[in-house]
Amino acid sequence: MREIAPGVAVVPTLVANAYLVGDHASWVLVDACTPGNERQIQRAAERRFGRGCKPRAIFLTHGHFDHAGSAGPLADAWGIKIHAHSSELPYLTGKAHYPPFDLSSPGFFTRIARFFPTGTVNLGPRLTALEPYQVLPGLPDWEMIETPGHTPGHVAFFRRSDAVLLAGDAVTTMNLDSFWDTVTRRKHVCRPPVPATSNWKNARRSVALLASLRPSTIAAGHGLPMRGAADELSRLAENFLSPELEN
Ligand SMILES: [Zn+2]
Ligand SMILES: [Zn+2]
Repeated sequence: MREIAPGVAVVPTLVANAYLVGDHASWVLVDACTPGNERQIQRAAERRFGRGCKPRAIFLTHGHFDHAGSAGPLADAWGIKIHAHSSELPYLTGKAHYPPFDLSSPGFFTRIARFFPTGTVNLGPRLTALEPYQVLPGLPDWEMIETPGHTPGHVAFFRRSDAVLLAGDAVTTMNLDSFWDTVTRRKHVCRPPVPATSNWKNARRSVALLASLRPSTIAAGHGLPMRGAADELSRLAENFLSPELEN
């Protein structure tokens, strides 16, 4: 666990990152990593906010199992709600399923994606829908930015006062298409994870929207958070290549 901006700490796990946002008077968890990470996330929260601490809510950037996996047990332990975009709720309540991963795409993530379930967790009545322009409970200084493409109801969270961006999988800060970049965690602003992205046209539009925000810090679901990468994000938006165009 490490502070990456005032009031924002990353909790890195083997596959994905979670974020603790706020101070000990009021904080939230953004994303919840793969199943089985609840103890690690709780311990990180206790180190940061003290024993017995409890967030106001859990926010999910999207419902993939590497972001929503530990959300259910954490929401139960803390007695709180889980917020996700209304378009993402069918996938988190067993009513819809994400398309199968595209295993013909290159890269390290594709290799490990073989072992990922395309189904995700069923969070049932713990869920509450996030609607555009609403004030976020426990996150009053932040805006939800709709960034569909990777999944239909994908969102990012943005704090305009200092331009900190929690990007989910709308972009990553490591090249998941490269085995060595993944192993060494070399920082690089990249398109969403290839095998699990369902709509590349929307994904491209979402990257352009995020680039227009000129974030000072990009904290994504995969990779180490990056500062001063707004130009690199703009270059990604300008030269965005979807896998269809590469083949
Ligand atoms: Zn994802
Ligand atoms: Zn992910």
